Amino acid sequence: MRIDDLPIRDELKGKSPYGAPQLDVPVLLNTNENPYPLPDALVARIAERVAEAARTLNRYPDRDAVELREGLAGYLTRSTGYGVDLVNVWAANGSNEILQQLLQTFGGPGRTALGFAPTYQMHELIARGTGTGWLQGPRNADFTVDLDAARAAIAERRPDVLFICSPNNPTGTAVPRETVLALYEAAQAVKPTLVIVDEAYIEFSHRPSLLPLIEGRPLLVVTRTMSKAFGAAGLRLGYLAADPAVVDAVQLVRLPYHLSSVTQATALAALEFTDTLLGYVERLKDERDRVVGELRAMGLRVTDSDANFIQFGCFEDTHAVWQAVLDRGVLVRDNGVPGWLRVTAGTPAENDAFLDAVRAATKEL
Ligand SMILES: *Cc1c(COP(=O)(O)O)cnc(C)c1O
Repeated sequence: MRIDDLPIRDELKGKSPYGAPQLDVPVLLNTNENPYPLPDALVARIAERVAEAARTLNRYPDRDAVELREGLAGYLTRSTGYGVDLVNVWAANGSNEILQQLLQTFGGPGRTALGFAPTYQMHELIARGTGTGWLQGPRNADFTVDLDAARAAIAERRPDVLFICSPNNPTGTAVPRETVLALYEAAQAVKPTLVIVDEAYIEFSHRPSLLPLIEGRPLLVVTRTMSKAFGAAGLRLGYLAADPAVVDAVQLVRLPYHLSSVTQATALAALEFTDTLLGYVERLKDERDRVVGELRAMGLRVTDSDANFIQFGCFEDTHAVWQAVLDRGVLVRDNGVPGWLRVTAGTPAENDAFLDAVRAATKEL
């Protein structure tokens, strides 16, 4: 039996599951992972905290993840200078689950979410998965948000949820504070709209976090993840910061005990090593800027990047370049943006391998 012969929901028919192709090659620069494994001291600390948690695994975890949310609030406060508390923070299994909970609460059948394409594909998929209609807003040719067109789209299409991805995946572009403020105002002028600022990559940005914008804006939510800057994609830990009412609201849809004791213990251990992990982020930012410079020196076009990845082009035959780079042992990502590819910043050696592969590939083609 094929999937579409099953009585699945109509809007799921003919769709493909999300996922980057995973190939077994020496240099993997396709999923924006952090290339640095966790340091040994942190691995040991995780083992210690998980062993402690294991003693009470016969019990359900702390349903409200209080210690972890306090730790995350402390990290946000220290790193942004804007004070948030336990009541402002909610955590889940990856920021994807956070986004799903937000859409289950503020989207759903009969409602719509609007995002600016090209953007993180999961925004659309989570919208569809929760029965929320998906609306696509435009960007400028340089991939920045076109504010006038965005205002027009909001006024015309009246979304219930607005996605602002900053820095944006796959383009790497950050959205200026004034633009986010203007979009928030434009949306609220039409109807009460949840505005989600996805800051999965903010630790890599040249710009400060937009977290302070939650002040006095009860419908503005900032989402974060430990998958990128904290180098813990395998942990599955995402979180949000917002008005306490939003945190209360998502309690209506979260599964009881969604965040396992093991996850909570591991995330708490990682938070103890924040300074070390953010040291790797500094290295990656330097490498990102170096790769941008070298790609431009080759005569390629590179979108300004505020993330741990770089969008580069323009190619007539994007797939041929992707394949030629892959033939040299380096996997990058084709996000389906015509003419452009995306590469994640890796270790200096990985980046050198990538740059060599691109040099060779573009000569050959
Ligand atoms: C990687 C990424 C995430 C992170 O998702 P997790 O579920 O936390 O791993 C969220 N938003 C964007 C834009 C991303 O690229």
